Amino acid sequence: ETKNTETVISKTEQYGAQNYHPLPIVISVAEGVWVTDPENNRYMDMLSAYSAVNQGHRHPKIIQALKDQADKVTLTSRAFHNDQLGDFYEKVSSLTKKDMVLPMNTGAEAVETAIKAVRRWAYDVKGVADNQAEIIVCEGNFHGRTMTAVSMSSDPDYQRGFGPMLPGIKVIPYGDLDALKAAITPNTAAFILEPIQGEAGIVIPREGFLKEALDVCKSENVLFVADEIQSGLGRSGKMFACDWEEIEPDMYILGKALGGGVMPISCVAANREILGVFNPGSHGSTFGGNPLSCAVSVASVDVLVEENLVERSLKLGEYFLGELKKIDNPVIKEVRGKGLFIGVELNEPARPYCERLKEQGLLCKETHENVIRFAPPLIISDEDLDWAIERIKKVLSV
Ligand code: PLP
Repeated sequence: ETKNTETVISKTEQYGAQNYHPLPIVISVAEGVWVTDPENNRYMDMLSAYSAVNQGHRHPKIIQALKDQADKVTLTSRAFHNDQLGDFYEKVSSLTKKDMVLPMNTGAEAVETAIKAVRRWAYDVKGVADNQAEIIVCEGNFHGRTMTAVSMSSDPDYQRGFGPMLPGIKVIPYGDLDALKAAITPNTAAFILEPIQGEAGIVIPREGFLKEALDVCKSENVLFVADEIQSGLGRSGKMFACDWEEIEPDMYILGKALGGGVMPISCVAANREILGVFNPGSHGSTFGGNPLSCAVSVASVDVLVEENLVERSLKLGEYFLGELKKIDNPVIKEVRGKGLFIGVELNEPARPYCERLKEQGLLCKETHENVIRFAPPLIISDEDLDWAIERIKKVLSV
């Protein structure tokens, strides 16, 4: 059976649940910032699998770690120790400056883990009465697709037909300090937010909000939890988007690029007073902390640091943003971003523009109807970025 774009898409659509609406392109090979379809057309990846491939597709050092570990042991379960998990913990601990780490696989599972941790902390440490713990989240958030994560969502499409939703959740407008203060009660366990909202369309809170919100949480004994699954690990031009305001959240939630786009691995990181609430039997995952993912993750973090990808994201992001802002077209409502985490908001649906960009050899995905997201792998070369900018200008100019 020959595989071409048409046969692949028709088989995929024949058997698959239709919970996605992908651009009609099949990626069969990828390297760095470039992907290739079965007909050998080459495209630049401007999405990076929703920021999971910050290190670029199939980074040689990460693939080597994968192969080396695959030749030793891939899965032990947590019934036994494996000799990679400690190294992974140490790596994440030094990166986040937190005492403890709890590994999972996907972002949504790490969010679940965070919710369990802050609820148990509320009961066992803060002294909230049983089953009364509350969590504050932000409008426009995206924390994943599990029932807990969709219960936190303010998007009716994410919840329709899936009720009943998880109770104990309050939604406030993103970036609204007064609303945060008003929402806090003695039962509040945590305030959970993305320091930059990714799926909402690269929405950046006003300067000072993160710091002020953290101060409010501290004074009210509420945990400040940063979902840095998409914004973290260099994407925003800092290691963590929280670093933009030099704040240390009580808990980080990490995923995506933590596995270099090679293995799914996620985690929460926090100090002992918080993650110490878990005891044996209270939480777990068969694949969480598996040696293959851990080895890949250590290499993935090493690549970010050794190749200065955080600084690269900052520098190239400033340049990219500046070039995009030069485009003079009334269809553009706003160009915003930090690092290589950029959104171009239009006054009309973004999808036709993404389709035109695809014809020019650039793969982008609209987010929230009107926003084109530009988030290339952080390893992108200066020349490749200029190549992209030239084509974006062509598509977005009147
Ligand atoms: N949290 C944020 C901020 C995300 O951007 C995402 C994914 O886009 C998730 C959580 C969910 O991660 P996953 O799709 O790995 O479950």
